[in-house]
Amino acid sequence: MSGYLLGAVTMGLLLLFGRELWRAFGRTIVSPRDRARDDREARERIEAAMKTPGATPENPLEVTTASLVESVATNLPCVVCGEAVIAEDHSVDTTGAEPLRKVDVHCRRCGHRRPLYVRIVHERLH
Ligand SMILES: [Zn+2]
Repeated sequence: MSGYLLGAVTMGLLLLFGRELWRAFGRTIVSPRDRARDDREARERIEAAMKTPGATPENPLEVTTASLVESVATNLPCVVCGEAVIAEDHSVDTTGAEPLRKVDVHCRRCGHRRPLYVRIVHERLH
């Protein structure tokens, strides 16, 4: 019984190791044609994402409190690969008509970086 369990654990570890190897080196063995297609698709996704809320100071995301800024920004997946992103920097952008929060996010998988702009909209009390 313990031999079977040891075999199952070993197989699981080998699968995890293989997955990490593929993530690390899989892209290097992709053909140039596939890579060109992937790059074109990534550019198209980045271009489409520029039209979504948060991508520009003119079209910011909206939250009700400052404590939500980073969590809202990091809940959006990477626009290139769909992986989770992390917040690298959180600052106040004063270049526009109103001050906005600017969160620089970084993809854990493909390394894509982009700023997200967030407006804090205080709820009106009735
Ligand atoms: Zn990514």
